[in-house]
Amino acid sequence: MKAASIFNEVKTADKLLAITFDDGPNPEWTPQFLRVFQQYGAKATFYVHGTNMEKYPDVAQRMDEEGHEFGNHSYSHPHMASLSKEEQTEELRRAEQIIVAVIGKRPSTFRPPYLEYNDDLLAVCEQFGYPVIHATNLDTRDWDMPGTEHIVNVTRAEVRAGSILLFHDGFGDRSQSLAAIQILVPELIEQGFKLVTISELLATETT
Ligand SMILES: [Zn+2]
Repeated sequence: MKAASIFNEVKTADKLLAITFDDGPNPEWTPQFLRVFQQYGAKATFYVHGTNMEKYPDVAQRMDEEGHEFGNHSYSHPHMASLSKEEQTEELRRAEQIIVAVIGKRPSTFRPPYLEYNDDLLAVCEQFGYPVIHATNLDTRDWDMPGTEHIVNVTRAEVRAGSILLFHDGFGDRSQSLAAIQILVPELIEQGFKLVTISELLATETT
């Protein structure tokens, strides 16, 4: 049984980073993140919930129009490892279907909710053609509101060419994640990093 590859980061010769967001689109917070990326001409990847795509298609369409990428993060954000292979397939299929319905494009990568996976899920992801995308700065735990400084400092320690950085634009109060992004995006650009989508980053992978 063939399994999908898992990426925490991408081996690349270029000074590129992928900033990713989970759990949107969110009508309150996502537009505020978009403003930062627009200001600096940077691109991000959004691992959206299928259910939020149904609720907030207008926010999703704006994300797409501004050049950001969509990733599959399941339809209803379950603990995937506790589902049958058929249920896992259905979660990915429904999420992909609503993303295509709203923005007319197929997502090309998957991030498991809670970063939980098992062999069945890796096989299902392979069937969909999705690499599985984790991240290098998981210790920020930005979803848990540990303080902006903590989020910024943990992320800074994980910044190198090819890093995949994870934040949340949905699920509760995202003010600390937003404040961290407002600090990090200009800082990374100042350091000479280009902030690209996950597909652009994966395309530069060296072996
Ligand atoms: Zn999530």
